Amino acid sequence: MSRENRKTPDACFIVPPFIEDSIEENGNAEQREKVRESRLQSAAVRQDRVYTPNASSTPPPGAVGKDRHVHDAERGYLLPGRIKRTEGTVATGDEHVDEAYRWSGAAYDLFNEEFGRNSLDGNGMDLISSVRFRPGYDNAFWNGRQMAYGEGDEDLPEASRIFNRFTILDICGHELTHGVVQFTAGFPYKNMQGALNEHFADVFGALTAQRVHNQTAHQASWLIGEGLFTNRVQGRGIRSLKAPGTAFDDPVIGRDPQPSHMDDYVVTDADYGGVHINSGIPNHAFYLAAVALQDTHPFAFTAAGDIWYRTLLRSTSQETFESIAELTVDVAAAIYGAGAKEKVHRAWAAVGVLTSPSPPSPPAPPEEPEEPEEPAPTPEEPSPEPDPAPEEPEEPGEDPDYGQPWCKKLWARLTLSHDLEEEV
Ligand SMILES: [Zn+2]
Repeated sequence: MSRENRKTPDACFIVPPFIEDSIEENGNAEQREKVRESRLQSAAVRQDRVYTPNASSTPPPGAVGKDRHVHDAERGYLLPGRIKRTEGTVATGDEHVDEAYRWSGAAYDLFNEEFGRNSLDGNGMDLISSVRFRPGYDNAFWNGRQMAYGEGDEDLPEASRIFNRFTILDICGHELTHGVVQFTAGFPYKNMQGALNEHFADVFGALTAQRVHNQTAHQASWLIGEGLFTNRVQGRGIRSLKAPGTAFDDPVIGRDPQPSHMDDYVVTDADYGGVHINSGIPNHAFYLAAVALQDTHPFAFTAAGDIWYRTLLRSTSQETFESIAELTVDVAAAIYGAGAKEKVHRAWAAVGVLTSPSPPSPPAPPEEPEEPEEPAPTPEEPSPEPDPAPEEPEEPGEDPDYGQPWCKKLWARLTLSHDLEEEV
């Protein structure tokens, strides 16, 4: 497994450049000046000119488990800044500090309690956050060592405010996941691999929020950055996994450019090759898989999240959408059985990444018994239930012939078109 990008990742920012471009073009004078200043600060972060005194990833001897350190950059550019809250201490009353503390803990808990991972590096790495990076900075980022959050437009007159502060639950989960990706697959932050990096960050950012709110796949908003925009902006969030391309449509910040199907994949040099754009395609596949799995696993942070997390562990840095899709199908089959495998496969087919919604069943792994091979019965003579893996009973109301190859193909096609209709 490749790890070449582990030590020197690009900084990953939550606000994509196309939103900044739009504000520079369409905003008022205050907004334009603000975005130009934020971009200068982001450029300094990218070039690693932001001072970071050994924010080491190595935990002290004996350190295990959650260990949060929240700093206040006090609107300066030195990271991490002055320490404000450490693990186990009481709330400070400073919303920026306390949110960064609480939500980085929520992301840690997701990975630890659902998937058994001990922090970003799997080895108890400290979770370092800095709030109030630069005056009125309109972004948040992971710089390979820590998270940092801007305070948004609190310094602007109300009529000019676009962004609230950036210490938002799913944004914290998103930024922390860039750390997990760095220490696992190590996707470079460019082109399709960069879109996968963004995809996994969005998936586990959304799941961090769903777990805190105890929301099922059906109940969740599936938005990233919900609450980031002030109510002057026509936008519900910065991205939508449920309906990519619909998160915002506003005269100042522009229109959500995310596709949800491979037919609309955007080839561009901007945005590191469209990392925040084309991530909409795998994002939507994850949403479809989570919704399809919810009859047996209502919470997306259980089975669907587990499949995606195990996929991340098995990924190399050069995966494509298609190879990632195949990995998720393999993982789903191995852990959750044939029913889950079909659902995950159909999700990727619905976004045009896998071409066949129902390929012939491969040889069964040990934990997934071969399906019965009796001749296909007529619809009037239903066969007994197929024999799924223990954790994946057949969908209620499904045709009892579903396990037969002829019926599987028909069912997959019908369900695929149903999924597509639902997502219009
Ligand atoms: Zn990101």
